[in-house]
Amino acid sequence: MGKAINKKRVYTFGNGKAEGKADMKNLLGGKGANLAEMNLIGVPVPAGFTITTDVCTEYNTIGKDQVVELMKAEVEAAIATTETAMNAKFGATGEEGFPLLLSVRSGARASMPGMMNTVLNLGMNDDTVKIIAEKSGNEKFAYDSYRRFIQMYGDVVMGVEAEEGEHCPFEQVLDKVKEAKGYASDNEMSVEDLKSVVEDFKAVVKEAAGEDFPTNPWDQLWGSVCAVFDSWNTERAILYRRMENIPSEWGTAVNVQAMVYGNMGETSATGVCFSRDAATGEDQFNGEYLINAQGEDVVSGVRTPLEITLVGSRRWAERNGTSEEDRAAKFPSLEEAMPALYKELDEIQQKLEDHYSDMQDMEFTIQDGKLWMLQTRNGKRTGAAMVKMAIDMLEQGMINKKTAILRQEPNKLDELLHPVFDKNALASAKVLSKGLPASPGAATGKIVFTAEDAEVEAAKGEKVILVRRETSPEDLKGMYAAVGILTERGGMTSHAAVVARGMGKCCISSAAGLTVSGSAMTIDGVSFQKGDFISLDGSTGVVYEGKVDTITPSLDGDFGKLMDLADKYTKMSVRTNADSPADSKTARDFGAQGIGLCRTEHMFFEGDRIWAIREMILAEDLEGRKTALDKLLPIQREDFYGILKAMDTFGVTIRLLDPPLHEFTPNDDATQKEMAEKLNVDQAIVKEKVDALHEFNPMLGHRGCRLGNTYPEITEMQARAIIEAACQLKSEGFDPKPEIMVPLIGTVQEFKMQEQIIRTVADQVFAEKGIKVDYLVGTMIEIPRAALTADLIAEAAEFFSFGTNDLTQMTFGYSRDDAGKFLPIYIEKGILKHDPFQVLDQEGVGQLVMKGTKKGRKTRPELKVGICGEHGGEPSSVEFCHTVGMNYVSCSPFRVPIARLAAAQAAIKAKAAKKAKK
Ligand code: ADP
Ligand code: MG
Ligand code: MG
Repeated sequence: MGKAINKKRVYTFGNGKAEGKADMKNLLGGKGANLAEMNLIGVPVPAGFTITTDVCTEYNTIGKDQVVELMKAEVEAAIATTETAMNAKFGATGEEGFPLLLSVRSGARASMPGMMNTVLNLGMNDDTVKIIAEKSGNEKFAYDSYRRFIQMYGDVVMGVEAEEGEHCPFEQVLDKVKEAKGYASDNEMSVEDLKSVVEDFKAVVKEAAGEDFPTNPWDQLWGSVCAVFDSWNTERAILYRRMENIPSEWGTAVNVQAMVYGNMGETSATGVCFSRDAATGEDQFNGEYLINAQGEDVVSGVRTPLEITLVGSRRWAERNGTSEEDRAAKFPSLEEAMPALYKELDEIQQKLEDHYSDMQDMEFTIQDGKLWMLQTRNGKRTGAAMVKMAIDMLEQGMINKKTAILRQEPNKLDELLHPVFDKNALASAKVLSKGLPASPGAATGKIVFTAEDAEVEAAKGEKVILVRRETSPEDLKGMYAAVGILTERGGMTSHAAVVARGMGKCCISSAAGLTVSGSAMTIDGVSFQKGDFISLDGSTGVVYEGKVDTITPSLDGDFGKLMDLADKYTKMSVRTNADSPADSKTARDFGAQGIGLCRTEHMFFEGDRIWAIREMILAEDLEGRKTALDKLLPIQREDFYGILKAMDTFGVTIRLLDPPLHEFTPNDDATQKEMAEKLNVDQAIVKEKVDALHEFNPMLGHRGCRLGNTYPEITEMQARAIIEAACQLKSEGFDPKPEIMVPLIGTVQEFKMQEQIIRTVADQVFAEKGIKVDYLVGTMIEIPRAALTADLIAEAAEFFSFGTNDLTQMTFGYSRDDAGKFLPIYIEKGILKHDPFQVLDQEGVGQLVMKGTKKGRKTRPELKVGICGEHGGEPSSVEFCHTVGMNYVSCSPFRVPIARLAAAQAAIKAKAAKKAKK
């Protein structure tokens, strides 16, 4: 950390000027940098200033008092600038003019929705409220602002919270007033009501916090600024950072800005809007607003907001079953209610989207007929919207091809590959309710009512749907655990909607007729309990009773265009890990160019096949084993035939038998008895054999090429099955490309022995059939010794495939099957940043991969190198594989598109980095 005492800590903006700009996000946070930028391009933004993210880091190292001292003079000067710009006075007591009230908001580099706390109307006290009432001529507005301030400051800064199982104490006060007077919403409260609420709120604070509510505006300001810094280290902020991989060193900036008031009456309003549809990607301006309200009201779901555009409003009415007459009279769009302001807003949203060349998520407030922008950022979007927007913007000439690719989050494609409801099943499903289609996708699961239950049930492997009145940041963990979210209240921009879209989770909000209370819910009077099944269609907003079948979606249109584009830049090809003709077909449809790993043993578990392998295991001698293997030969040949055919013209890497034999034998008494009967031997013999196969460390035991080298007849049979299948295909006019892979090599001798068996068998088959096919013999590099002696191994092996699952296991010395006991704790404690079985450990395991590749290619420059561990479909690992210079990555079928995109991104980034170096 720079210790420069004199560095600049505060950056002002306002009146078309700014000390910061858009590309200073690291220092000013996303919100602050964009507030500055909007000023610079002539968008109306209330004046204010940003305290840098560096100050947050200072705050966390040298402490509060020193930091306040260091920035005090700069903050005071910035307040003075703001006062001039807004023609108002902070802490005014009468003659000095209109009191300046402030908003204090956090703003990290990456947006963290709902994580950091905002305080509005700061500067209010018993004196300012009177001055504001008098000068604005709007007493109701003044007291409404005051009560909002006490509640926010009390909650965020003074820590006034709901007691376990109770409603927030401020809300209790409001509910009491509304109930007594029969009001439906906060807006109906009179000046007298608001005055009494203010007094009650102060009492709530005193009671809960044990001190009086601070009356000095400067105390309020410093309290809020420090609270923003403190909120960087709250449990939920830390959780979000961990989920989204945001480093804790980044820190948050603090934005202090003059308030503008959306709660000044019927000519005022506040809203949230998007330059395109964040759920579908449609190029249609949209959003929600509320007349006479402040920002938080729109997102919190206390009042149901209205649509901004007429198009959106009509669509809403149709979904809702509201007549056009009713809609226009009671639920008008902003476009109808305030046409001139709507036009201005529409122009600004277009200007901002053009300026940033990306979809914008904006907040605005209309104060007594004047429009102010309060925030803009590149909007979060669903996977489908991400793809559609990129292709649309490319075709509209807004972005270039590389940008279109780089703007994809590869993991988000997952959402597009996931199931949707089967149309036939939907037709017969019973509709329970209809709500807002807040985040698309299909989900079927058991109802839970709390975030804790969601976590507990999900940990047991249950699919759960979290049902809440509305969600808050406390529900985050539960939302992660659930497959879908259903809420009674809230609009398209509610917390639940925004967060669910970010997570790519299906969500329906404001479901009609739904009432959620504690541990039960009713829909139109019918009650549902925890554990009951429901299904959600987040794309239509329909809630169904029970389970509804799902199917895999089709992948053409924009998705196809994007994939074609990606393939133009990719250097590595993407293969798949597939063990059956069906999986191979799926993967090829997803664009896989070959198979990087076909695990032959997986074929043994299907149907009756297990009995042949068990017979082989039980056999007393070579003769017996051969008889059993003869039964397996046609079965394997048929599988290989199907797989090689599905991947015609592409390489198919088939791994010889790998697991220890005990994995094929039964441990329980009943199945051992069955085995004895079926194979016609004494049960004692079966038991004896099973016991003999027992190993203390099976993962380091009699497996991999150690099997083929001790029982060569197994390798003979498998090699024959592969080559015969290939010859058959060739005779039918296909072009099969088998690559036979020897697993678990540690020394080159182990490999050579296997290679010899394979080549001998191949020659025999060719002679028998009178046909020849090209094939390769190579090996998996998964034992550290193999990586270290790769130069020797490459003398014989024609290709390498890094088996990074085993390589990680052996390099770390973590048993994959037992790591569950400590890995989560290691990650929580920060000993490890990621689970090394998911994200390739580039620092350690990566060295072996790099060394192995280099050494191998030194001996054999043309050596084909790939990866077939789980890492082959993980974007950061794919990028690493590109750097290493691999020919391909291989991953599970459903991750193929993700890997294709990640591979294209890696190639584009590497090229750009090379250019920058020059
Ligand atoms: P988030 O990051 O969760 O969006 P924000 O910091 O943007 O939170 O603020 C929350 C709400 O406060 C916003 O909806 C915004 O409209 C409102 N707000 C923020 N600053 C001001 C301001 N200067 N005047 C009026 N309202 C404001
Ligand atoms: Mg905001
Ligand atoms: Mg292995």
